[in-house]
Amino acid sequence: MRMVLLGAPGAGKGTHCKRIVDQYGLLHLSSGDILRRERAEGSELGKQAQGYMDAGALVPDDLIVEMMSKAVKAAPASGYVLDGFPRTVNQAEALDRSLEDGDAGIDVVMNLLVDDGVVVERITGRRSCPQCGAVYHVVNMPPKQEGVCDHDGAALVQRPDDTAEVVKNRLATYYEQTKPVVDYYRARRTVHDVDGNADADAVAALLFEKLDALKG
Ligand code: AMP
Repeated sequence: MRMVLLGAPGAGKGTHCKRIVDQYGLLHLSSGDILRRERAEGSELGKQAQGYMDAGALVPDDLIVEMMSKAVKAAPASGYVLDGFPRTVNQAEALDRSLEDGDAGIDVVMNLLVDDGVVVERITGRRSCPQCGAVYHVVNMPPKQEGVCDHDGAALVQRPDDTAEVVKNRLATYYEQTKPVVDYYRARRTVHDVDGNADADAVAALLFEKLDALKG
């Protein structure tokens, strides 16, 4: 199964991709995670991306398309879930061109729908582990001990682009540049809308129900 999970920042793409890959044995390809790794390694790509990321803007398409085409080509035959990519119509077109069977190369497109107020509350409360990448929320998904990762005891951090100010820019960027990607896919295939406002377990149950039905 080759899948694209769409949704605004904070819609729960990362959280649900992790659950989906565990459940269905797929590879999680998150453009945001790959970029954060490149930054941590101090690579040329990481350096080029950091200014855009910290401002809540999109990294230029040519850099992202090259990075994600490589990741998709190296993915296993069992399939993958794309998280955070494509984020512009240009990227969606480039992805279709890079797949052997064009726009039939993606089997499932899911779209998580979340209200803006929920997005802001989720993102500003998000904390993550710099060591293992586990993600928490100060209210909705707190660690056992405040500020400490359940898995490895590392001190949790807030992503620099998860502040209230940057979230505003990220939402504006979403409406301007990423929402048209939903329409791009709708014109070509079924897009499965899923209400992502509820808590993570309830949303995961909806996603699994749809995916099980699609698998047949
Ligand atoms: P995310 O973790 O998906 O919210 O991504 C964090 C940041 O990485 C975004 O705000 C962008 O600056 C950048 N980014 C991630 N994916 C893309 C993409 N497909 N196109 C452009 N920029 C991206």
